Amino acid sequence: MSLHFSLLTLFPELLRPFTSEALLGKAAVKGLLAFDLIDLREYAGNRWRKVDDAPYGGGAGMVIRVDVVEAALQALHQPPSTPPDEVILLTPAGQPFTQKVAEELSEKNHLALLCGRYEGFDARVETLVTREISIGDFVMMGGEAAAACIVEAVARLRPGVIGDEESWRADSYSSGLLDYPEYTRPAQWQGLSVPDVLQGGHHAAIERWRRSKALERTWARRPDLLPTAGLTPHDSASLLA
Ligand code: SAM
Repeated sequence: MSLHFSLLTLFPELLRPFTSEALLGKAAVKGLLAFDLIDLREYAGNRWRKVDDAPYGGGAGMVIRVDVVEAALQALHQPPSTPPDEVILLTPAGQPFTQKVAEELSEKNHLALLCGRYEGFDARVETLVTREISIGDFVMMGGEAAAACIVEAVARLRPGVIGDEESWRADSYSSGLLDYPEYTRPAQWQGLSVPDVLQGGHHAAIERWRRSKALERTWARRPDLLPTAGLTPHDSASLLA
């Protein structure tokens, strides 16, 4: 079964190359993913294709109308489309996006992502969505880059989208820790060598080294992850050593 993304935006052309190139494009050709780029202006309901208006109460900027969003979402319920399992509003005021949220979303069949612009949407849009997501504590000019982050993080968890289906389980966050450092050729570069253990071919020693480096890195960079990382007594001893 493919995972269907409906991306609702004022600038569909921003997302077109993103959804048709590289691994996402290949997965779409194979039928593992499907992308609909939906231009909110098609649902403006006026011949000027105007989707926004001035904020009640005054102030700078324009606000995207709730009735435009409602019409665009209603169209997603028309056959042959199957209604979205989730309608996600992209907003700096949303739930922080994490690997856990990506894993949850990757279990769904159809996700609609609503990208804002200007001052964002009329607050009543909240009644039309299933969740609100922020990709970080900063403000961008539009939701397209946020939608791109979510598509990338969710799509790679679907079977067949990346080469080694299980490789994501060992990646940063999915494993509970940050990833261990990786090296490739040349073995020597600018006086920096690839660690001997990785060149020795001793599989168990390599696994032990990788686990200890993942622990060290997480301890140094993201100690907040350790309490929920499922550490073994051996991991804890290695950290204290
Ligand atoms: N007035 C809004 C505020 O202060 O929360 C900011 C609106 S922002 C300029 C325009 C659009 O960009 C938002 O509607 C949202 O879709 C998107 N956006 C900006 N930053 C975002 C973030 N950190 N996460 C998710 N979406 C974001």
